[in-house]
Amino acid sequence: MKVLKFGGTSVGSGQSISTLIDILKNEVTTTGKKPIVVLSAMSGVTNLLLSMAEEAADGKDFVAGLAELERRHFDVVKELLEIQNQNPALTRLKLNFNQLEELLQGVLTLRELTPKTRDLVLSYGERCSAMMISKIAAQYFPEAIYVDASELIKTDSSFGNARVQSEITDQVIRGFYNGHKDNMLFVTGFIAGNDQGQITTLGRGGSDYTAAIFAAALNAAEIEIWTDVNGMMTADPRMVKKAFSLPELTYTEAMELSYFGAKVIYPPTMIPAFMKRIPIVIRNTFEPEFKGTFIRHDCKPSNLAIKGISSINNISILNVQGSGMVGKSGFSGRLFSLLAREQINVILITQSSSEHSITFAVSPGDTERALKVIEHEFELELMAKKLENIDIEQDLAILAVVGENMKETPGVSGKLFSSLGRNGVNVRAIAQGSSEYNISVIISASDLNKALNAVHDAFFVELTKTLHAFCLGTGNIGKTLFNQLNAHAAFLKENNGIQVKIAGISNTRKMAFNSDGIDLNEWEEALERSHDAADLAGFVAKMQSMNLPNCVFIDNTASPKPIAFYGDVLKSTISIVTCNKIGNSGPYNQYKLFRDAARQHGVDFFYETNVGAGLPIIRTLKDLMNSGDRVQRIEAILSGTISFIFNNFKGDVSFHDVVKLAQEKGYTEPDPRDDLRGTDFMRKMLILARDAGYSLEANDVKIGSILPQACLDATSVDDFYAALKAEDAYFANLKAEAEKNGKVLRYIGILENGKAAINLEMVGEDHPFFTLSGSDNIISFTTDRYRERPLVVKGPGAGAEVTAAGVFADLINVGA
Ligand code: ADP
Ligand code: ASP
Ligand code: MG
Repeated sequence: MKVLKFGGTSVGSGQSISTLIDILKNEVTTTGKKPIVVLSAMSGVTNLLLSMAEEAADGKDFVAGLAELERRHFDVVKELLEIQNQNPALTRLKLNFNQLEELLQGVLTLRELTPKTRDLVLSYGERCSAMMISKIAAQYFPEAIYVDASELIKTDSSFGNARVQSEITDQVIRGFYNGHKDNMLFVTGFIAGNDQGQITTLGRGGSDYTAAIFAAALNAAEIEIWTDVNGMMTADPRMVKKAFSLPELTYTEAMELSYFGAKVIYPPTMIPAFMKRIPIVIRNTFEPEFKGTFIRHDCKPSNLAIKGISSINNISILNVQGSGMVGKSGFSGRLFSLLAREQINVILITQSSSEHSITFAVSPGDTERALKVIEHEFELELMAKKLENIDIEQDLAILAVVGENMKETPGVSGKLFSSLGRNGVNVRAIAQGSSEYNISVIISASDLNKALNAVHDAFFVELTKTLHAFCLGTGNIGKTLFNQLNAHAAFLKENNGIQVKIAGISNTRKMAFNSDGIDLNEWEEALERSHDAADLAGFVAKMQSMNLPNCVFIDNTASPKPIAFYGDVLKSTISIVTCNKIGNSGPYNQYKLFRDAARQHGVDFFYETNVGAGLPIIRTLKDLMNSGDRVQRIEAILSGTISFIFNNFKGDVSFHDVVKLAQEKGYTEPDPRDDLRGTDFMRKMLILARDAGYSLEANDVKIGSILPQACLDATSVDDFYAALKAEDAYFANLKAEAEKNGKVLRYIGILENGKAAINLEMVGEDHPFFTLSGSDNIISFTTDRYRERPLVVKGPGAGAEVTAAGVFADLINVGA
């Protein structure tokens, strides 16, 4: 025989109750046996009853609540009972509602709600639903009867959270069952009774426990908990979208997960099941094909280091410390017996190894009371300064990782703390259960969502890791990046296990946010629809406040403005990927600050595209340096624009026309002088020099000019082109002279002995840069290791496609 328990949502509407009936029919036909059915109140009803009672005690009326309660039950009766069966059910329900009304009227009159009365009020939820469902079921199973478990489950009088007296309860249940062998029992969950016949409750979520109590008393073969999710998942699916269902758990694992907040099963449920070795299966009423999560003794070995992550999102901690505690073995005993006596539930305890302090967590509602009783009990110690004043911290949360494998798997705590650290989650206190089946940390409640997702990503590596990117700039590079990300999303997920969500976009006009990721098929429309005007500080603040895990700030602008925010962004443990050179080529102090901040906060600062677009130049240099090599000389052509210009400056064409062509092809800045002046090239040389270990400033890079003074002096782009035309002869001469000697013109940067310079040179066939074509970049590193033949990187060093691809590569390397 099995015990099937249906939770609030499974009995929450006519439709789900019909599904429940189908599940029962299926159970009876496939097993040939009648299950015992345990029922919760309809979803939301327990909360509604609770608030009606509390409001009545505050003098507020409960008419609306009562009407809602009636409507919800009556609707189901009318939907699922044959006309001729409706009246008896409606009458019995109405009787219940009348009693409830009288009870609430009493609370209202007395302005007092005792725990005893509260339990009585709450009991109507289960009593109504179980009675109603037994009537509906009787249409298909004539032997169905309603069973009020408050007459069968015997408890003490701790109203709200009563303790079951199992011996007598088992006897009573067995007696009742034996007397009703031919019936199919529809039992109220959650409620019980004390020895005076008063109604008690088993704690919120307690219907699961009712099922286990019946199962244990009757030696059932299995307990099925029917709920609204696919079993026990690796984390609460409402908080962690990537949570997945677990096929099986041990009782201890299920206990620890549920103790720390996995509400899908009520922790005490495991005790009777464990004692009698009865398997529990958690199943989904709304997806009956799902086979369920099994909680049982003989679990197959799992290769997961942990089984799940759970959390309690609202706790306070009290910190008791002082010299009077050191070596006093009786102290903590006294403290915790006091709290137990006062019925203050201590959720978690940590004690420093010096015994100088004890930190423990309680529900916010218990905080003040705990403080009062401790201050009273330890009055003398406090006066004698053997105890310091007791600290209280609020708005905290507990996150716990759970699994029996933790014991054998080294590095679990390292992984936990590094994923929290990387995401800037500050850990207030740590506790490891003595069983070593859980590690729990106390963190700020506002970090909980981020922490859960980050820790989930860290432990369930076979899952895709999600990067949350915030992108500044929707020009050529930004646009192209979005296209590339969109086109490669499926591949990335499949092959690299990475999912990129663009959680924010801003250009100079507008900004848009979506923590689930902006749809890259219509990001332009999303930006258009948004009511947020662009505001850089607002963009950064919003990104920080969204507090998403694995967060990356992407700067695809060429503007100096975002740079001012880099330090702050890194400090909030958000990585940066940038193609904007202005940051790294500003004052040396600033260059250094970004690196220090990234290192200090454990995040990445990637800028491969600062030099040579997508070519692996920065990365190569970094690898050389990190592996102990030393740069002797760097020689480079790093302006794709200037390369293009000189590579095409041959034959009859004039310099003016080549520059124009480069501009038309999109190779130049809006003012081509920004390229030809060598400023952009200078920035790249400066960044390389710095990455090679030299603390140069911009004006340390000597730039030999390409342009005659008149071109530089022109006040507009049009004037510049006019001036350039006037200098055609000058450039034609340069070209002729080079050609005469079998040489070509090249604008080359050199770093040697810590000095950097860029000059227009004529190079012959013997020079490796002679054959450069198109807009290619080339760089040769002569190092201690690459002394004889330099290490050369060559390829397209400009253009939106390759630059965006470089940004893309940096992005997916974040956190790698
Ligand atoms: P019922 O009314 O059926 O007893 P509950 O609301 O008590 O259902 O419990 C089910 C809910 O538990 C799910 O809807 C889910 O949001 C929540 N939950 C929290 N943690 C987990 C977890 N680790 N796995 C599955 N569900 C979880
Ligand atoms: N109805 C009760 C509650 O909401 C018990 C349960 O559903 O398990 O807490
Ligand atoms: Mg529940």
